Amino acid sequence: MRRVSIFGATGSIGQNTIDLIARAPDEYEVVALSGGRNVAQLAEDAQRLGAAVAVTAFDEMLEPLREALAGTGIEAQAGQAALLEAASRPADWVMSAIVGAAGLEPGLRALEQGATLALANKETLVCAGALVMATAEAHGARVLPVDSEHSAIFQGLIGEDIGAVERIIITASGGAFRDWPMDKLRGATLAEASCHPNWNMGQRITIDSASMFNKALEVIETREYFGVDPGQIEVLVHPESMIHAMVGFRDGALMAHVGPADMRHAIGFALHWPERRELPVERLDFASIGQFTFRAPDLDRYPALRLARSVMARGGLSGTVFNAAKERSLDAFIAGHIGFLEMAETVEAVLDRFESQPGLIDASLTLDNVLHTDHLARTYADEAMAARAG
Ligand code: NDP
Repeated sequence: MRRVSIFGATGSIGQNTIDLIARAPDEYEVVALSGGRNVAQLAEDAQRLGAAVAVTAFDEMLEPLREALAGTGIEAQAGQAALLEAASRPADWVMSAIVGAAGLEPGLRALEQGATLALANKETLVCAGALVMATAEAHGARVLPVDSEHSAIFQGLIGEDIGAVERIIITASGGAFRDWPMDKLRGATLAEASCHPNWNMGQRITIDSASMFNKALEVIETREYFGVDPGQIEVLVHPESMIHAMVGFRDGALMAHVGPADMRHAIGFALHWPERRELPVERLDFASIGQFTFRAPDLDRYPALRLARSVMARGGLSGTVFNAAKERSLDAFIAGHIGFLEMAETVEAVLDRFESQPGLIDASLTLDNVLHTDHLARTYADEAMAARAG
């Protein structure tokens, strides 16, 4: 039996992972499941899968979780220390599907005990890519990408030499506002930004798709995971979301990964790797699809893509700054405190402010420095938004 844990089990990726694992209950021993506020779902899944421990990230949710698990024999825990303890429990395969930088530390703990880390949480690599990859190497652990684009690139590279790669093209649907006139974008509402044309995902990544902050994170994630030069990474708008990525080689060949917009492919690939097993995803019928379309991304519409380029050029801890400022401005947009375009404006202001303190950006990539920088960038984002409002 393979021992598995799922962090962020109650979210969109977590539920898709559970869907796959629940189809073969005899193959898996579930060690830990984690969630946030949705303790009813967490308790239900912990019972269904026979997990040893269920952890909510929030202390105030412990009582409802305990009540929901009363009499089941499943341990109920809460808070950051409990989350890290659960991530340190021996497991063979760990899904990292918490949303945001909160996913970093549990992922590192899982790597430290040698687990294979299936990484949906792209923020982990954006905030601390080199630290994460070095931790994996030091402990004989492996990181497998779950983001659909990165899973596609990974699959395109099987049996290939990374030195023969000329370019990597990651596709973007263009999100909810790809066809909106620019002058309408400033007034885009939360409800409008929360509808993705193709993918069914958590609210935060859906809004990040509309602003292309999601793609910006993925460009940085590509650099961190595959170690290619930033100039080799291209973004292409592909509204049908069926080609997830393409790898171009120096002989001119392009390997494209094509599949339906269903995360169970990338999750299942990481779950069964290096085998390919049958997965419950739709088989595409190209004759009925008819055509694929492409366009270049408009950098005026999507300033996040421009900012990602400057983050990669700057290096150091600027990925941590970028992600934290993005998370904080997304919080503010969701709370109705700032408009849609002010998210990118805030992130840019925070990056500029850090630029005047190079000692911070160039500090060594330790977990303490990442956490400190993350905290400071959130404070600067709050200050930048308050200054604009005032
Ligand atoms: P969701 O918002 O659907 O789920 C997030 C999960 O994290 C939930 O279990 C939530 O708990 C939990 N959570 C929320 N806040 C915290 C916190 N502070 N500490 C610990 N746990 C917390 O997100 P998604 O599943 O959409 O995305 C998860 C990750 O995967 C993200 O990094 C995203 O970028 C990435 N990803 C997602 C894809 C998708 O298709 N959804 C595709 C590719 C990557 P609860 O809901 O109980 O409050």
